[in-house]
Amino acid sequence: MHDIVIVGAGPVGGALALAIADADLDVVALDAREEGAAPRGDRSLALSHGARLIFERLGVWSRLSAAKNAVTPITTIDISQAGGFGVTRLRADEQEVPALGYVVSYLALQRAIDAELARTRTDLRFGAPVKAVDGTPSYAAVTLTNGNDAPVTARLAVVADGTGAAVAGVARERRDYGQLALIAKVWMAAPHDGVAFERFTPNGPMALLPESDHYGLVWTMTPAVAERTLALSDDAFLGELAHHFGARVEGFARVAERKTFPLALEFARPATTSRCVLIGNAAQALHPIAGQGFNLGIRDAFELAQAINTTARDALGDRAMLSDYAARRLVDRYAGIAFTHGLMQLFASDWSLLRWPRGLALTLLDAVPPAKRAFTRAMLFGLS
Ligand SMILES: Cc1cc2nc3c(=O)[nH]c(=O)nc-3n(C[C@H](O)[C@H](O)[C@H](O)COP(=O)(O)OP(=O)(O)OC[C@H]3O[C@@H](n4cnc5c(N)ncnc54)[C@H](O)[C@@H]3O)c2cc1C
Repeated sequence: MHDIVIVGAGPVGGALALAIADADLDVVALDAREEGAAPRGDRSLALSHGARLIFERLGVWSRLSAAKNAVTPITTIDISQAGGFGVTRLRADEQEVPALGYVVSYLALQRAIDAELARTRTDLRFGAPVKAVDGTPSYAAVTLTNGNDAPVTARLAVVADGTGAAVAGVARERRDYGQLALIAKVWMAAPHDGVAFERFTPNGPMALLPESDHYGLVWTMTPAVAERTLALSDDAFLGELAHHFGARVEGFARVAERKTFPLALEFARPATTSRCVLIGNAAQALHPIAGQGFNLGIRDAFELAQAINTTARDALGDRAMLSDYAARRLVDRYAGIAFTHGLMQLFASDWSLLRWPRGLALTLLDAVPPAKRAFTRAMLFGLS
């Protein structure tokens, strides 16, 4: 029996594996993907300053920032709403941090984590898709999809597979927002200078994240609007962007790689079961409106690593350890879920009566330094 089996060595499972690599433990990590691959393609991740600090400790950050165009610092976030008053600008220098966050290529991050993991004793197995994770009072059993191998057993199974689909006995809450995220790469006439834009429109929120020499666009909309918008010519699409961003952003020049994915809030309740714990997107998948989801997942990994590193081998995965971990994560998890869901209700609604409070909130945020600082800190470090 192993001490720990990690199902899914993506950014969150991989970060956990790195954070416990120096403990004297027998750890095996199973991932369905082939080495160096990213499931469902590359994407832009918005990392908080807090997540950067965690990746620095894990030795991933220096490798990542050495890769060409893999990290783009966000120096300013400009938040506004279409057809209403109220604008706020959050700036890194006001918060005395080098950047408000970073836009990072998922693929580059995964490669940096894989390379660091290869230097450790962790038994990392690629091409190992998991079919089921079952817990008993004394061990967890992980069954692989292919082959006739006996299940992999461990004192503790950590599920970081992005969905939690393989785990039996976990209740999941799901709220479908009835929206899709349309993502694309957009080039501007002038350099972005690290300025990110978040804009609330009647159709839903949209964001421009500075990445390398372009912006990563994330635009939420209903499936019907998405179908029409995807079908537009490049010029007509750029015209729509200019229309929605108005005077806040000008100079849309080129667009490429338009695609959509569905948006929902989904979380495990609780994120632990017998001998098993879910972390990252397997524990909670959030709407990207506030950029909280991935950062919350990295904090899951970091906190769980601390719990593992301070628990005696015999007690790994027992009920006391798992309930203690769940209690420690409770506030951060539910605050992240509630903050994201609340923003979604407040800003994604086109109920015109809400425009006033929305505008007021944005104006107050800009005018009242402590409130602005608190909001920025929540975006930077999370809510706990
Ligand atoms: C299509 C898509 C687009 C997104 N775009 C954005 C974006 O633009 N910005 C943003 O901030 N966030 C985005 N997200 C969310 C972001 O990708 C997640 O927050 C982040 O990837 C979570 O990391 P994770 O390690 O928990 O899960 P994942 O990144 O999903 O990693 C899961 C890992 O588990 C492995 N795995 C899966 N199933 C199995 C199995 N059965 N057996 C073994 N291994 C398995 C996978 O190969 C993978 O390596 C997007 C998500 C999706 C699905």
